[in-house]
Amino acid sequence: MLGQDPHSLAFRCNLCGALTSALPAQLTREGASCGGCGSSVRQRAVVRLLSLGLFGESLAIGDFPLRPDLTVLDLSGAEIYARRLAGKLGYVNTFLHREPRLDIAAPDPSWLGRCDALVSSDVFEHVAPPVAAAFTSALRLLRPGGLLVLTVPFTRDGPHAEHFPELHDFRIAEEDGRRVLFNRTADGRRQRFGDLVFHGGEGRTLEMRVFSRASLLAHLAEAGFAETALHPEPEPRSGILWHHDWSVPATARRPL
Ligand SMILES: [Zn+2]
Repeated sequence: MLGQDPHSLAFRCNLCGALTSALPAQLTREGASCGGCGSSVRQRAVVRLLSLGLFGESLAIGDFPLRPDLTVLDLSGAEIYARRLAGKLGYVNTFLHREPRLDIAAPDPSWLGRCDALVSSDVFEHVAPPVAAAFTSALRLLRPGGLLVLTVPFTRDGPHAEHFPELHDFRIAEEDGRRVLFNRTADGRRQRFGDLVFHGGEGRTLEMRVFSRASLLAHLAEAGFAETALHPEPEPRSGILWHHDWSVPATARRPL
């Protein structure tokens, strides 16, 4: 391409199919790095892992086989891949606060055991404690052999940080222009938390925890997942590079 920085990486976005390029330093987890659709490395990695898990190869969504028979649930999935996946798969994007609703801590029993794949990208750090319930439900939503594609921010070596371990009956209020969380614990004690961290997006955006690599893997194992793997591997042709080995996507399967 004329005028292209010689250090830039040319790639084909696996969401929109655009041929585009970016400097490696621009290929961050969250930054919009596709010149076509604005997808991030995380979003392209999610689609890559879904494609590998369902079809055994990393395809752009436009090249997916038409498989409406494959049931894929997503939890507040990004719109830029949700509508494209829905054109190829039996894909349902679900939400906590609007239809079609799904509370990952307590999913409707009609969904259980039906999913060929469940996608959850940067949701589990926002689920009210105990987060173990979300991991257990994720397993139960899948059919035996079904695939989980999961991303959460996590630290490489740090401890798991659970911000509100006794969360029970809580509300978030504004105090002097800042948001504060008031909680009443199960045994009736009142707690107040400042310094809240919110992430973008609708629904559960309050950060409830920061996983560690160890706590993420332990939660998956305790829920009964098998074939668990973290994915720091690059796929330059799809614009997927990781500059670090934490907060990378994970996959796991419900045992047969
Ligand atoms: Zn794109």
